Amino acid sequence: MAKFDLGTILERAKKERHSLSRNELAYLISLKDPSELELLHSTAYEVKVRHSGKVVSFRGIIEMGNYCSKDCFYCGIRKSNRNTDRFELDEETIIRAIQRNIDMRYGSIVLQSGEIISEKNTEYIERLVRKAGEMSDGKLGITLSLGEQSLETYARWRAAGAHRYLLRVETSNRELYARLHPANHSFERRVQCLRWLRECDYQVGSGVMSGLPGQTDDDLAGDILFMHEMDIDMIGMGPYIPHHDTPLGRDVPLTPEYAEERLRLGLNMISATRLFLHDVNIASTTALQALADDGRERGILAGANVIMPNTTDTEYRRGYQLYENKPSLDENTEESRDNLVARIKSIGETINWDQQGTSPHYLVRHGKL
Ligand code: SAH
Ligand code: SF4
Repeated sequence: MAKFDLGTILERAKKERHSLSRNELAYLISLKDPSELELLHSTAYEVKVRHSGKVVSFRGIIEMGNYCSKDCFYCGIRKSNRNTDRFELDEETIIRAIQRNIDMRYGSIVLQSGEIISEKNTEYIERLVRKAGEMSDGKLGITLSLGEQSLETYARWRAAGAHRYLLRVETSNRELYARLHPANHSFERRVQCLRWLRECDYQVGSGVMSGLPGQTDDDLAGDILFMHEMDIDMIGMGPYIPHHDTPLGRDVPLTPEYAEERLRLGLNMISATRLFLHDVNIASTTALQALADDGRERGILAGANVIMPNTTDTEYRRGYQLYENKPSLDENTEESRDNLVARIKSIGETINWDQQGTSPHYLVRHGKL
């Protein structure tokens, strides 16, 4: 790799967004030296503070069910995994979880599940979204993460009151994408879905996994450029964590060294993305917390500004194991919420209570900022 001067690169990136080359992004992602990591993360954190203050926004995730029509090779709830007990929350349980989010003043929810394509499901989600709007007098930010759907379905859910949609592209390297999915899963279709979501005027969220087998730092740099090209508003990136019941994770033990390397890469991706894109929302994901107890706080200090506490009823958590070691802490109780808040305060940040926490990038596009 060519010689880079870290100080010069960071100074430029801090002042001017989109000012890093692909090679420079790959260089930042590759950093390992502790003092260089400290400089990378703290500079990205400065940019985060400039755009969204010393404030963290919460989105309570509600994992509605683990039935999925897809068979992604990395995911623990893929269709072919017979070792997962399948569950689907009933409407009442979901409504209770939505109410809990309102009571906890989280400001914004994410309804997530495996990919289900049916008119019945489309109507059901429409109803839930309307209900969540009514329950909060339209104040609650509503995000959906329900996979690839048709333009019509996306439009109906948007019309029902959903504001945001999360659909990770997983990797922007098409060849790698093809190795991670069965032949009938299409990268082009994913990208088409992201365009449709934009067409429907969602705040569009995407992202990738880092540390995938065969993935290079150059691929990850390409992923950040892809987010820019697609004009993405919100980014949810996380380390890939093997699951033993999947084709990709079958023989990969999660050793401490492996976890540490995944965490380093995950944090560097957050920083490089913040330094390149500046005003997007970036989530410090649960997968970071699966690798280190304080992983999410470290994600904030590396440039993320969103945390997504799990607000599903604890009894259903075990069924939603996308990856191994997924934290199943009950973040619904006041005690654990207070604990999370204390951790965030301990790093000098406050919480955006009752606010939707809309991506500044989206507001700028709409001339509202
Ligand atoms: N079915 C929907 C939403 C649920 S999956 C969808 O696919 O969009 C949400 C995310 O979980 C996926 O986008 C993927 O990035 C992540 N995920 C799945 N398996 C994972 C693993 N083994 N390690 C880390 N993240 C994983
Ligand atoms: Fe289904 Fe999403 Fe898992 Fe793929 S990543 S198998 S679409 S839940």
